[in-house]
Amino acid sequence: EPIVDIRDLSVHYGLRGGSLARLIGSDAGTVKAVDGINLTLRRGEVVGLVGESGSGKSTLGRALLGLAPATEGSIEFEGQDLADLSGRRLRALRRDIQMVFQDPSAALNPAMTVEEAVGDALRVHGMRSASERRTKVIDALERVGLSPVELFLEKYPRDLSGGQKQRVVLARAIITGPSVLVADEPISMLDMSVRAKILQLMLDLKQDLGLTYVYITHDLASAKFFCDRIAIMYLGRVVEIGPTEEIFANP
Ligand code: ADP
Ligand code: ADP
Repeated sequence: EPIVDIRDLSVHYGLRGGSLARLIGSDAGTVKAVDGINLTLRRGEVVGLVGESGSGKSTLGRALLGLAPATEGSIEFEGQDLADLSGRRLRALRRDIQMVFQDPSAALNPAMTVEEAVGDALRVHGMRSASERRTKVIDALERVGLSPVELFLEKYPRDLSGGQKQRVVLARAIITGPSVLVADEPISMLDMSVRAKILQLMLDLKQDLGLTYVYITHDLASAKFFCDRIAIMYLGRVVEIGPTEEIFANP
């Protein structure tokens, strides 16, 4: 039973509904960012999306969060078509599928403390009680290795290193109890010395929380270390997919 089932998915940019191009049946000016992808994610696995810049990796990742609407095809999460979700169920999906990006500085509001930033993910999902939030924030910060926690709660992003900021971003992502985490180049802006530590942390979180990962990268060495399966993307398509050892065994 797959946790996510992507079927014949295409995401095209550039054609607006009612545009002249559509009227005259031309697709000139359309970018087929994702072009007919089939991919199922099994619960608890790490699937790498690798490929050169512009091959559609980020678009596919964003589509999983409902942030890049399907032009054709569908994405099912636990048997539910994302396109059919609305209102309360769509908000619930925002807890179940989370995403982290490459630049932790851009992801964090400079005016929010660590406690506010991580707790905000709960507040937007309706947890009113500050003390309940604090308990969960402390647990999340411990899980991402920001301890002693009291040292970090009142800090602002400017007080933190890049690796610490990415840990805060991960804490904010896991605090809603997601089952899928889409990580788009999560280590590529970090210092070399902390990259392996963040990847190892992500593996620990997977172990502890039973996460399923989509790991987007152009760094083959990290994909080889981190992924169970790898999908190689080119021009919006998956051109090769298989277990990591098979992908790397090819002559
Ligand atoms: P990757 O993550 O592999 O670098 P992207 O998904 O970012 O690839 O981009 C795939 C293609 O879609 C590229 O040609 C890119 O220019 C285009 N694209 C991505 N986002 C948009 C957008 N919001 N509007 C128009 N074109 C986009
Ligand atoms: P290369 O193959 O480029 O010489 P490595 O194989 O040492 O480099 O590592 C490449 C990347 O893979 C590292 O930057 C790190 O992100 C990841 N990596 C490799 N080994 C580990 C490890 N034991 N724990 C966590 N990450 C690792």
